[in-house]
Amino acid sequence: MTIDYAELKRLAEAATPGPWSARTDDLCYAVTALGRFRIIVGSAPADDPEPDALFIAAANPATILALIAEIEQLSAQVATLQGDPNSWQSGYDEGRRMGTKTALSERDQLKAEVEALRGIMAAVVSEIPHAKHMSPGNAPGHCHRLPGVWDEDNGAKAGKECGWCKVWNKALVMSKGVAQ
Ligand SMILES: [Zn+2]
Repeated sequence: MTIDYAELKRLAEAATPGPWSARTDDLCYAVTALGRFRIIVGSAPADDPEPDALFIAAANPATILALIAEIEQLSAQVATLQGDPNSWQSGYDEGRRMGTKTALSERDQLKAEVEALRGIMAAVVSEIPHAKHMSPGNAPGHCHRLPGVWDEDNGAKAGKECGWCKVWNKALVMSKGVAQ
């Protein structure tokens, strides 16, 4: 349903303004403020007005004009927001752009930090004396028969993973790809 606000406004301005009320004698009426015009809605007992009469009285010209004014105000606000370069849409877009920029900046910074740490790790690995021919999987100074695992003659450590070998192997992996 399309509402002709201009026509509705014209009619409401021309009509008797509110408040209206519902009254009953033998019949039930919606009555204007001046009591001049009555709309007969039906018959109803004096203490129980017809719902239609109550509604007609409530939907009086003053109420309609107030509703139209509210709609006009809201429409104007919508138009302002849509036309404003600082509206929620452009603010949202800018927020997304800045968020992406910040994320990219943080990512680049983290990448640089990781590369720096990788370089430090490579330097540490190259500085620790270790034979090139040592058994793979064992850290410098260690010669487990099973690489990275304590031998059976190592007491309580026997059969357990060697912490130093574990760290060394991780350092080797981390320092890979760094020019030495
Ligand atoms: Zn070891």
